[in-house]
Amino acid sequence: MQVDVIVIGAGAAGMMCAAEAGKRGKSVVLIDHYRKLGEKIRISGGGRCNFTNIHARPENYLSQNPHFCRSALARYTPQDFIKLVERHGIRYHEKTLGQLFCDDSATQIIDMLKTECDRAHVQLRQPCSVASVNKSSDGFEVDTDQGHFTASALVIATGGLSVPKIGATPFGYKIAEQFGLAMIAPRPALVPLSFDPESLACYGDLSGLSLDAEVSCHDGRFRESLLLTHRGLSGPSILQISSYWQNGPAKEPIHINLLPDAATVAALESQRGSKAQFNNILAEHLPRRLAQAWCDAHNLNKPAIQFSDRAYADALAQLQDWQVKPSGTLGYNKAEVTLGGVDTRELSSKTMQANKVPGLYFIGEVVDVTGHLGGFNFQWAWASAVAAGQAL
Ligand SMILES: Cc1cc2nc3c(=O)[nH]c(=O)nc-3n(C[C@H](O)[C@H](O)[C@H](O)COP(=O)(O)OP(=O)(O)OC[C@H]3O[C@@H](n4cnc5c(N)ncnc54)[C@H](O)[C@@H]3O)c2cc1C
Repeated sequence: MQVDVIVIGAGAAGMMCAAEAGKRGKSVVLIDHYRKLGEKIRISGGGRCNFTNIHARPENYLSQNPHFCRSALARYTPQDFIKLVERHGIRYHEKTLGQLFCDDSATQIIDMLKTECDRAHVQLRQPCSVASVNKSSDGFEVDTDQGHFTASALVIATGGLSVPKIGATPFGYKIAEQFGLAMIAPRPALVPLSFDPESLACYGDLSGLSLDAEVSCHDGRFRESLLLTHRGLSGPSILQISSYWQNGPAKEPIHINLLPDAATVAALESQRGSKAQFNNILAEHLPRRLAQAWCDAHNLNKPAIQFSDRAYADALAQLQDWQVKPSGTLGYNKAEVTLGGVDTRELSSKTMQANKVPGLYFIGEVVDVTGHLGGFNFQWAWASAVAAGQAL
């Protein structure tokens, strides 16, 4: 079968790109090996899909080439996607920090993209396994279990490695290698972190407890909720910082400020001469079980008045800089995204086309552009897809 464009991967980016190219009169085949359409969209945002973030800016993305995402993000903005959502009558709300969610269900976003593809006469082949991809003199040849397809343009939209049980594969990375494109080594991101054995012994029983905290590592600093789990740390602030933390042999720490409000620190300082037990003083500002576990771990179970000035200041300083050296992440099964991917220096930032392989495009998460938590990753999927879709 001969078409203008073959898109491999019918997730967020693939559907968006196929629809855009189809609308412009291109004949498009969209191929996905998984039995369900847009499964990652369906499970996103707790089933309500945090489909964009109204504050999306290049600064919300990590990449070895931080400026790469600028052009596509500027040309297809959150407002553009919101207009599409509104045209389809999907009701939505802002939850927090500019994050937009469907009022009802993430499946509305999948249905919307499927409708856009149908209107643009995109031919969906799913489930359909790709056996090989080859370059021919006038384009690309793709062999599948549903036949042989040829096209002048091939778009790779197969995403990253997170959540393999719903269809994630390294397909896109292998195609990049096949065509000699450089890769940035992938690793799990937006992922819970596991405690080192010592921290696990002290805090492993506090599973389910959450609090407001400021977490930092390298250039990353996030003040959001932190959740203790039976294996370690999770919650938005930890997922965010996991993208900055390097899981190397040197086990670098993340820094957690358990007292992010200056007013709380001032209140604790004012209790310096108190006869009350320090764990009880702390429990006025932190969850009681955490206050107790902290004081047990740091040997602080005594009245505040018995602390020297230095020891009291040290105790407060430690609470503002809890250094945890995670033993690792919970890996791709629990990661929302994959950091790294196709090196953006290999691609045009205007079109997503590979510089040295005309007609070959990479879009979405397979590219080394990774958003913060909060709707940024979908915004990149939409924006990079439209950039390619308009150039095809
Ligand atoms: C639990 C969870 C929640 C998330 N929540 C949010 C959120 O609320 N907001 C947000 O912005 N981001 C969220 N994300 C991230 C977001 O889902 C991804 O960044 C986004 O889906 C990437 O889009 P994509 O099209 O590049 O890849 P995907 O959506 O992963 O699509 C890739 C497609 O390629 C197909 N594919 C893979 N390998 C092959 C192959 N060998 N042959 C054929 N097809 C193949 C897959 O089946 C899949 O359909 C979440 C991720 C997870 C895991």
